[in-house]
Amino acid sequence: MRGLQGKTAVVTGGASGIGRATCHRLAEEGCDVVVTDVDAAGGEETVRRIEADDAVGATAEFRHLDVSEYGEFEDVLFEAADRHGGLDVLFNNAGVGEARSFRETTPDHRDDLVEVNLYGVWNGCHAALPILEEGDGGAIINTSSMAGWHPAPITTYAMTKAAVLHFTRSVAGEFARSGVRVNAVCPGLVSTAMTDEWYSAEEREEMRRHTALGRWADPGEIAACVAFLASEDASYVTGRAMKVDAGYV
Ligand code: NAD
Repeated sequence: MRGLQGKTAVVTGGASGIGRATCHRLAEEGCDVVVTDVDAAGGEETVRRIEADDAVGATAEFRHLDVSEYGEFEDVLFEAADRHGGLDVLFNNAGVGEARSFRETTPDHRDDLVEVNLYGVWNGCHAALPILEEGDGGAIINTSSMAGWHPAPITTYAMTKAAVLHFTRSVAGEFARSGVRVNAVCPGLVSTAMTDEWYSAEEREEMRRHTALGRWADPGEIAACVAFLASEDASYVTGRAMKVDAGYV
């Protein structure tokens, strides 16, 4: 993809699943990647895998980041920009899931979902704005979900993901004048630690039947779309949400 070579990317939730696959894809495309997560062991493993890949010429490094901590987010972004001479891509991917019904969801669990899935994205965009404004353009990709579009029996999670969608559409306008594009990606059914924990084999099979393509996604298939949105190939795309859901109905 055009325009990613030599760029600097920060990925949240890079220790697992979609985040790990995107770190790898962006590094393959030539980005120096700052892998961030609360899971240090998983984040270091992502870095190890990138470094072990002979096809990758770019660098990767791990930094601890809890996206719900605004000050920590600012520090990580400023440090990355300082070390690499600027920041070009931010993938706000970190998220937590809801394993209970609405009735069983406690206020504590609600707060956790909102603080990570929604405030985490807000924190990233807000902390990145002054850095990106100083550069010559850039791209932010926020992770929503198919559950942000359609009603889903994961009500509080769906609420946070719908909010990410609307937030993305709105904040894109504020970034646009500084040449920064902000888009959302809405993954469908992706086999990761999160969905392995959520769904039984029977539920996974039932959900698979609702996809036009008839299968779950590999995390790399979401990473490819994120890399596109981050690249110059998406230079006329901002304030939009890309569904990557195999035609789920
Ligand atoms: P995952 O569980 O494999 O990865 C999530 C990562 O986020 C983990 O490494 C975890 O440690 C990290 N994380 C959790 N809380 C954090 C915090 N406070 N600060 C920083 N990192 C934190 O899950 P995944 O499926 O790869 O999900 C990635 C994103 O994609 C999430 O936002 C999720 O809601 C979204 N999503 C996933 C699917 C799917 O089918 N897997 C579908 C739609 C949307």
